[in-house]
Amino acid sequence: MNAITPPDHAATVAALKEEVLHRLTFTICKDAATASPRDWFVATALAARDRVVESWLASTKRNYSEDRRRVYYLSLEFLIGRLLIDTLTNLGLTAAMRDALAELGVDLEKRRDVEPDAALGNGGLGRLAACFMDSMATLEIAACGYGIRYDHGLFRQTIKDGWQHEYPEDWLSFGNPWEFPRPEITYDIGFGGHVETTRLPDGAAAHVWRPGETIVAVAYDTPVVGWHGKHVNTLRLWSARALDPLRLDAFNQGDHVGALTEQVRAEAISKILYPSDATPAGQELRLRQEYFFVSASLQDLIRRHMKQTGDITKLAEKTAIQLNDTHPAIGVAELMRLLVDVHGVEWKEAWKITQATFAYTNHTLLPEALETWPVWLMEKLLPRHMQIIYLINAMHLDGLREKGVADSGVLSSVSLIDEHNGRHVRMGHLAFLGSHKVNGVSALHSELVKETVFKDFHRLYPDRIVNKTNGVTFRRWLLEANPPLSRLLAETIGTSVFDDATLLNKLEAFADDPDFQSRFAAAKRENKERLAVKIFESVGVRVDPDALFDAQIKRIHEYKRQLLNVLEAVALYLDIKSQPSRDFVPRVKIFAGKAAASYHQAKLIIKLANDVASIVNADAATRDLLKIVFLPNYNVSLAEVIIPAADLSEQISTAGMEASGTGNMKFALNGALTIGTLDGANVEIQEHVGDDNIFIFGLTAQQVAESRARGIDARETIAASPRLAEALQAVASGMFSPDDPHRYAQLVDTLTYYDHFLITKDFDSYCNTQRKVDARWRDQKAWRRSAILNTARVAWFSSDRTIREYAEEIWKVEV
Ligand SMILES: *Cc1c(COP(=O)(O)O)cnc(C)c1O
Repeated sequence: MNAITPPDHAATVAALKEEVLHRLTFTICKDAATASPRDWFVATALAARDRVVESWLASTKRNYSEDRRRVYYLSLEFLIGRLLIDTLTNLGLTAAMRDALAELGVDLEKRRDVEPDAALGNGGLGRLAACFMDSMATLEIAACGYGIRYDHGLFRQTIKDGWQHEYPEDWLSFGNPWEFPRPEITYDIGFGGHVETTRLPDGAAAHVWRPGETIVAVAYDTPVVGWHGKHVNTLRLWSARALDPLRLDAFNQGDHVGALTEQVRAEAISKILYPSDATPAGQELRLRQEYFFVSASLQDLIRRHMKQTGDITKLAEKTAIQLNDTHPAIGVAELMRLLVDVHGVEWKEAWKITQATFAYTNHTLLPEALETWPVWLMEKLLPRHMQIIYLINAMHLDGLREKGVADSGVLSSVSLIDEHNGRHVRMGHLAFLGSHKVNGVSALHSELVKETVFKDFHRLYPDRIVNKTNGVTFRRWLLEANPPLSRLLAETIGTSVFDDATLLNKLEAFADDPDFQSRFAAAKRENKERLAVKIFESVGVRVDPDALFDAQIKRIHEYKRQLLNVLEAVALYLDIKSQPSRDFVPRVKIFAGKAAASYHQAKLIIKLANDVASIVNADAATRDLLKIVFLPNYNVSLAEVIIPAADLSEQISTAGMEASGTGNMKFALNGALTIGTLDGANVEIQEHVGDDNIFIFGLTAQQVAESRARGIDARETIAASPRLAEALQAVASGMFSPDDPHRYAQLVDTLTYYDHFLITKDFDSYCNTQRKVDARWRDQKAWRRSAILNTARVAWFSSDRTIREYAEEIWKVEV
């Protein structure tokens, strides 16, 4: 049973049963006797979707009739996951659907696993967009998400002999029951060609872009259901299509492949999600993807605005556009083009409208991840936009000179053009200039944005940078992912906690209550048993649900420091072997995460984790004291199984490098204690849960900067730490890679001489803090108290709170 069951249960069950059977018969054309698991899933999804449609139409109508200010969320990524349970939960129909299917002899839980994850994102940034869509619908904001309908989402990861392999992901191969194709909603997207300049009667210049190539963007809409199904927004994803499906002349002459080249070239745009996470995807196709979805979205929202108001100059009054990172930053130039060239708005007014409409969210301080595009490529692909960017830049720099800014260093650092090694357009700068607000995603990150990437901009525009600490949707990450805990919450503090997360603080009163503690632990235990089964099915390792479950699940990246965790495991393993009689706390270390296909170091870290796991798990000396598992193919659905089962959440990035993190919030919400650095939102999590209920270690962001300035040669640090030296020696000597003893020599060497991520500097502090974790675990009363207080105190990290802040301070829409 779900935590929330509506009153008219029996009638709802009967109706849903009818609706599922109707869909099975008339949409899928199967009967109950022959339907496959997938048929049942699709029939169930369609029945759920039918229930959304009326509310969707009503919401759309209301948005028009009330002439509401609209919010558009532009994101190259939406990491959605599955939608069946999510939709049913938001509609309050999970329990009824479960019973309806049971009467048909079908198990909802099993059908749910048939649904492929919509993995249209790499990691945190894409998942944030999905959480925001959920919260915007729940808060009844008239919002629309815009992105790309990739044929293939993030690659599927398998692990063979410990190495990552990538395979194309195929979420659409059996159709997508959630989406509505809108073949009538299309826009032409131009590329290349040239710009014609003509004179208007009044002597002013007019510019007409004559693209050399045109591609068609076709809309596909997915409803995004808010809590209680009260409001439904649209996620509109664009698919690319050739203007002409094939060249008939070529086909008739027998060139069957050549006849399709244009189509192939056009459709390549929405073919695949770039598997780059915080590394620049410098490919031309990436820029084409960005412009493609931004242009389609801006044309679409302007069409809607004109239909509503008939007055282009009112665009900013009625519209807020949020840029999720720099990927849609070309929108600044595209909106200027549409306003000036197409709608005849005078330049100065167009610029005012543009700035008042856009806001930009920065997600990274890594210089290599801040997008830039070569000027030659821009000129080739988007010649009119390049002209517009030059003009924006000239006016911007002239304006600064007029204000008395003369320092050429400052002027060159805030220029839209980076003149350094080959001329490049700085997309972060373009997004900053074209927006009225720029936000970081945690308090620390926003301060660092002011001090680093946008330092000079911040001095010139001190009111522009604000903070909006990320959040996650509790509907998915608590109510759906953790039914045992949700039931307990409903019974203890009432179901209204699912309407208003701040009521979680009522749990504080139960933190020391022995009865509640044991029920809280029983819920965790149930989730751990489920994960133990999953682990055995997935990698064949048996783990004890009574052990401490320690999880680090996220993209594999050097700054996230999975290597620090692996080295600690190695040190622990060596301790267990050398001191067999010591009183160790049994642990299961759980890793999951994908590495960008081209990121060799990250892939080697995956191999190391797997190599260490093989040796440790097979060694009888470790008994059940240490088990290490690397679960393949990390995605939203796997996160939903791991997070509710975790006791300990590893958030151990090099301080100053994780913009916010959102995994950290999901874990704390589900009653895991965090071991982490003072990085990203960990800082704010500490403030909320209290120093006693989180394990903080390591250098601060400022100490990291100072330490790096002093040098990253780690030889002295290693020499001063016998445990670290021993662990590194074990790895370097091939203890974990007997088949290839030198496999990790280079890795250890790099760590020794160029420890950019300060793994060695933080190692002792990390190990000592892990022993404090062990000590707390031994005192189960104290552990449970801390776990309960984590759940009780993290309401603030609901994306509903985040979206309310965006709505009030950036978008100026009422919630
Ligand atoms: C939450 C989430 C992330 C982000 O995790 P971080 O630990 O913040 O990097 C990435 N991928 C998936 C599937 C997630 O659910």
